[in-house]
Amino acid sequence: MQLEPNLAATNVPDEIRNADTPCDKAMHATEPLPSSEGVMLSVRGLKKVYQTDGGDNEAVRNLTFDVRAGELVCLVGPSGSGKTTLLKCISGLMAPTAGAVLLDGKPVSGPPKKMAVVFQEYGRSLFPWMRVRENVELPLKNQRVPKAERTRLVNEALEAVGLSHVPRSFPWQLSGGMQQRVAIARAIAYQPEVLLMDEPFAAVDAQTRADLEDLIRVVWKKLGVTVLFVTHDIDESVYLGERVIILSSSPTVVQEDIVIDLPADRDQLNTRSTPRFAELRHHVYKQIQLAKKGHRPASASAGKDARSD
Ligand code: ADP
Ligand code: MG
Repeated sequence: MQLEPNLAATNVPDEIRNADTPCDKAMHATEPLPSSEGVMLSVRGLKKVYQTDGGDNEAVRNLTFDVRAGELVCLVGPSGSGKTTLLKCISGLMAPTAGAVLLDGKPVSGPPKKMAVVFQEYGRSLFPWMRVRENVELPLKNQRVPKAERTRLVNEALEAVGLSHVPRSFPWQLSGGMQQRVAIARAIAYQPEVLLMDEPFAAVDAQTRADLEDLIRVVWKKLGVTVLFVTHDIDESVYLGERVIILSSSPTVVQEDIVIDLPADRDQLNTRSTPRFAELRHHVYKQIQLAKKGHRPASASAGKDARSD
């Protein structure tokens, strides 16, 4: 059953509840997913409580959503809303307190081979004593991919991120944006079916960030990979995503799940200046403001998530 999204919540201000324009009607991802067909990643009732010296900290309360194979979904939520916690659970790096993550229908209980993760802190994710090429090659070596195949995959990945000219540099000889490209190349070379990205561009300058956003869409289209991209940047989520899942503040539930019906071909100058981009951005912005003020979807108070089916 598809529950009403949070717009129906009684504690939502009128200007939000009444934002029932044609644009709002079109944007909600209201169709429940039909069975598990085509679903690559399934998060079911995920809950994470950290045990700390100061007592229990419930970071994620109840998250349920699906990502279809080949989709590019952005997850946006306030700082501290549990985005990194969620990605760690999805990637099998951390066990959830309750609930499950299914990858292609199978429960995730440790880091799956089909998945690659790109973290925000590129400085800590690359090995400083290894050259660019060796960093990108490492996961392939660990998987015992034959040498000729490794060489081909590394060359293709470096080409895809525009780093073919620096294979023998060390990461510390490169700019921040280039280092993050190395991390992306490493993920691409690994040929994952699912690519998770945790605020990967938060630490690079605005122009580099715009280039890297375009790179992600190019890579996504070219490889047909399923991408879950986490960000706290509203504009970035709308520009990049085919869908945007908005998280509530902690303890986190899905606040809203919307379709981004912008054209598939996007560019920084034109797409961001279209009226539709402005509408979608406005809508997500309002939802995040509500989340920050502690508003939660009506279903959350009943202990359910916003997209149970
Ligand atoms: P986000 O990535 O959205 O900023 P996080 O997942 O990093 O959020 O954190 C969500 C909540 O969980 C925060 O309250 C944070 O303090 C807490 N938290 C994160 N990691 C830990 C940890 N290892 N131990 C205890 N609490 C944690
Ligand atoms: Mg985080």
